[in-house]
Amino acid sequence: MPVNLEDSFRHKGLRKQLVETIRRKGISDPEVLRAMETIPRHFFFDSSFISFAYEDQPFPIGEGQTISQPYTVAFQSELLRIKKGDKVLEVGTGSGYQASILAEMGAKVFSIERIKPLYLKAKEILPKMGYPVKVFYGDGYKGLPGFAPFHRIIVTAGAPDIPEPLIEQLKPGGILVIPVGKGDIQIMKTLEKDDNGQVRITDHGTFRFVPLLENRS
Ligand code: SAH
Repeated sequence: MPVNLEDSFRHKGLRKQLVETIRRKGISDPEVLRAMETIPRHFFFDSSFISFAYEDQPFPIGEGQTISQPYTVAFQSELLRIKKGDKVLEVGTGSGYQASILAEMGAKVFSIERIKPLYLKAKEILPKMGYPVKVFYGDGYKGLPGFAPFHRIIVTAGAPDIPEPLIEQLKPGGILVIPVGKGDIQIMKTLEKDDNGQVRITDHGTFRFVPLLENRS
């Protein structure tokens, strides 16, 4: 499907309002807000649904998956405390929107998606937008051992628990952000690994994600 990469004044205006909404909801990291104001979220929508792109809502992207709510993207991005040049692993590429936000913030992003059509679409649009995100087709439960360790890891699907390989692939001093829960609702958690490899887990409220699926095929 051809992607229309046109960013009008109207879209820029709607985006400014969306960022204002997110700021009012409590996001304060200037780099997160700047990236969200920069990235045209409507690029990740099919042309018939573009009018929904600047509402603070999740939206279906096909294959039973969703692009996360902008507030959730901002919340996870803020928890990551990205520094320019950080190597970041994302599990659950989906539309590629979250990956583009992290890339705009200066991260070197590696992202894994287990649904082929979504993987292919994200792999096409991110370079077109000028973001050299490395997109992989596979099971994010296993992480990317060949590219580890990572300064930061973000999981954008609800996980029943924190996958051990992801903890292993986190650098000392690193942060893993992951929504954890077995049902419809998850608790956002950060896992921080100190320089001695000790981990500390902190809770950050409830969210609703599509489930992280294990590759059984
Ligand atoms: N970050 C995305 C939101 C994606 S929704 C965005 O910005 O649009 C969660 C995604 O995780 C879905 O695309 C789903 O297919 C994917 N997913 C679920 N289980 C997975 C797994 N084990 N490995 C990799 N991706 C997975």
